[in-house]
Amino acid sequence: MQLRSSNIDKLTGEVFDVLIVGGGINGAAAAAALAGKGARVALVERGDFAGSTSMHSSNLVWGGIKYMESRDFALVRKLCKSRNHLIKSYPSTVQEIRFLTTIPKGFRYHPRYLWAGSWLYWLIGNGFTRIPRFLAPSAIKQSEAIVDVAEAMGGFEYSDAYLHDNDARFVFNFVRGALNYGGVAVNYVESLGGTRENGLWVTQLRDVIDGGTLEVRSRVLINAAGPWVDKHNALTGQQTDYHHVYSKGIHLIVPRLTDNQRVLAFFADDGRLFFVIPMGPRTCIGTTDTRVEKPEVGVTEDDIRFVLDNINKRLTLERPLTTADIISTRCGVRPLAVRANGGGERDFLQLSRKHAIDINGEDAHLSIFGGKLTDCLNVGDEVVDAVRDMGVSIPHPGHRWYGEPPQEVRHEFMHQAALMGLDVMTAPEASEPLSTRLWRRYGTHALEMLEEIREDPRQAEVLIEGTEYLRCELRHAQRREMVTRLEDFLRRRSKIALVVDEVAIRDSPGLREACAILFGDQAEARYEEYFAASRGEEAVLPSTGE
Ligand SMILES: Cc1cc2nc3c(=O)[nH]c(=O)nc-3n(C[C@H](O)[C@H](O)[C@H](O)COP(=O)(O)OP(=O)(O)OC[C@H]3O[C@@H](n4cnc5c(N)ncnc54)[C@H](O)[C@@H]3O)c2cc1C
Repeated sequence: MQLRSSNIDKLTGEVFDVLIVGGGINGAAAAAALAGKGARVALVERGDFAGSTSMHSSNLVWGGIKYMESRDFALVRKLCKSRNHLIKSYPSTVQEIRFLTTIPKGFRYHPRYLWAGSWLYWLIGNGFTRIPRFLAPSAIKQSEAIVDVAEAMGGFEYSDAYLHDNDARFVFNFVRGALNYGGVAVNYVESLGGTRENGLWVTQLRDVIDGGTLEVRSRVLINAAGPWVDKHNALTGQQTDYHHVYSKGIHLIVPRLTDNQRVLAFFADDGRLFFVIPMGPRTCIGTTDTRVEKPEVGVTEDDIRFVLDNINKRLTLERPLTTADIISTRCGVRPLAVRANGGGERDFLQLSRKHAIDINGEDAHLSIFGGKLTDCLNVGDEVVDAVRDMGVSIPHPGHRWYGEPPQEVRHEFMHQAALMGLDVMTAPEASEPLSTRLWRRYGTHALEMLEEIREDPRQAEVLIEGTEYLRCELRHAQRREMVTRLEDFLRRRSKIALVVDEVAIRDSPGLREACAILFGDQAEARYEEYFAASRGEEAVLPSTGE
């Protein structure tokens, strides 16, 4: 908690160039870009970083093949370029993956027409990925035995990319990047709104953990509150050209359905694309697309039935999936940007998923509407340009603020790991060698972990049974990842809570030690808080004394 309290102290100590409200992908990428290029940045997030929409995505980094149908080729081109850029910049995190799409008889397009479309998609994406291929029903069955081809007309396979770990971890790495560049970022601090005073924004903040209030001053205010952008603009008196409408989407995490590392794509009963996505030792299925009026949503029985019915109809499993197979769920709203004077009445499913940055130069205020994880590097760069146009000095405009460390550092890490026999220490049930996993998750800081393991081999032991997390990773999380509540670690810095059954987590003897490492004398309270929340109870917590 030291990192958090020292960052809270820093919030009031200076006038920032920029204050960002919201620590989802848009806020995190904006913070990393601005801090990396030398602006003085603060970011506040009222929950945990990536604690809202950005932890409920499909984990896909994609060029938006479905927007081909609405002929939004400019958007597809932009997203394909962003996808390629992310694959190149994060080779161990954002990885190409094949999508096998099965087309049923009587579908609105013939599979050969769609296959031709996938070639166009490939060309629009500069031919960066492996080429598409057409599959007759028998070839689909041969590639993926669980697909029911009885009613299939054929299919095609093409490439996009996915996040190997998870969306929330990806977002956190941008927050961490902003901190590395000297930015200030704090979770569990809510903006209550702000006013302009003598050419500065004065924003009122509330510490959600201890209830304390504080004021932060900045030249520019960026509203990156995702689905709550309009609400926050009401607090600051901002009028915008855009506003948000919401589309709810859910996913279910179930036991692994196939050992193949590919996404299975289908058209659901409502005509929308529907996926079976690998998620480590599990499979993630979904999603839905339902218009809702408010961003606060939950998974309903109807949602679950829709997903299970659709999946059971399209796969030939030994037995159909039921609610008893659900290990965890994800549920969020897509904030979709529409112009305030129209657009919202268009067919909802056809609404564009582009981002829009609404700029009020006079008030030095920006609102980020819509967007996708896939588009995050563009959002970061566009925000820097807009902030510079508002007169903020950008001392290092050419600095590359994203991406994995250079190849030489990776080679050095892999060399040291090989010399000390790190991969031999990999737990037998692990899905990948330790060196691969530590590098992907921690980059340069993985070298410090090697040092810790050399000093004390117990640091390479898996701490929470049934997961791949090592003792040294918990120590690292305690120091560098601002884990304030147990859920921050179990659900967002890691994906343990998504893929491990809750009873298994609770029964794990190592969890108590993990809490002790993460929270010191608050360990018991944080443990109780986590399990009380999952039972739907309010835990009574002592003040953290921060
Ligand atoms: C079901 C689903 C599937 C998706 N799949 C994909 C996909 O596969 N690929 C892809 O690229 N995109 C996908 N998306 C889209 C993508 O997830 C979102 O566009 C993106 O995460 C939105 O990020 P954001 O930062 O705008 O919002 P958020 O992640 O919601 O972040 C906004 C943050 O602001 C905080 N906040 C709000 N008010 C305040 C306040 N007053 N003070 C402080 N903090 C505040 C909130 O707590 C929140 O954490 C999907 C979305 C959904 C819902």
